[in-house]
Amino acid sequence: MKKLNILIAAGPTREYIDPVRYLSNDSSGKMGFALAKAACRLGLHVTLVAGPVALETPRGVKRIDVISALDMRAAVLAKAPKAGIIIMCAAVADYRPARFSRMKIKRTIEPSNHRTIELVSNPDILAELGRKKKRHQTLVGFALETNNLERNARAKLEEKNCDWIVANSANAIGAKVGSAILFSRKGRRIPIRSLPKDRLAAVILSHVVE
Ligand code: C5P
Repeated sequence: MKKLNILIAAGPTREYIDPVRYLSNDSSGKMGFALAKAACRLGLHVTLVAGPVALETPRGVKRIDVISALDMRAAVLAKAPKAGIIIMCAAVADYRPARFSRMKIKRTIEPSNHRTIELVSNPDILAELGRKKKRHQTLVGFALETNNLERNARAKLEEKNCDWIVANSANAIGAKVGSAILFSRKGRRIPIRSLPKDRLAAVILSHVVE
């Protein structure tokens, strides 16, 4: 039997302003890597698109390293057509600097004490995957919220045309343990109590694969 392909995007993206400065999100990548490991254990064929993180590649996983949101989008869209399950667990930066300076930007003292960086929106990769979703695909998004967790998570499920949304609160960042609530397209609501991220990943995956 052919193995089911799963595509997971994990970690933050970096949006460089100049060669040494960037905008990013706080994300360790642990959850995405734990999902990749759990998927391997289930015998799935795993591709992991990883932003800059300090984590070892789980054995058996095909890893593609990326830096920016645009890099991540290109890697994910290239692999998506062959994936049966896609999990966007990455903390993609919403904006990138409108211009990249090839030289390190000098510190200048502005009379107003202000300095402005113009930003442009990054593409929403998950929403794009949602628009292109094929009938055989299961699309999973994450919603990390500091307020109105459930309402925002449900809205994301609809807006981005996902089959599942994993909702967790911001205290999950970098932590070894995490809890979550899963919301499905079919109206299921599954709370998962606080567990080490490896176990949490296995539970999330068992529902998604089912
Ligand atoms: O809208 P928000 O960023 O809160 O949605 C989070 C979900 O969307 C996550 O699954 C994240 O990986 C994905 N996302 C994305 N591209 C973006 C922003 C978020 O794929 N530019």
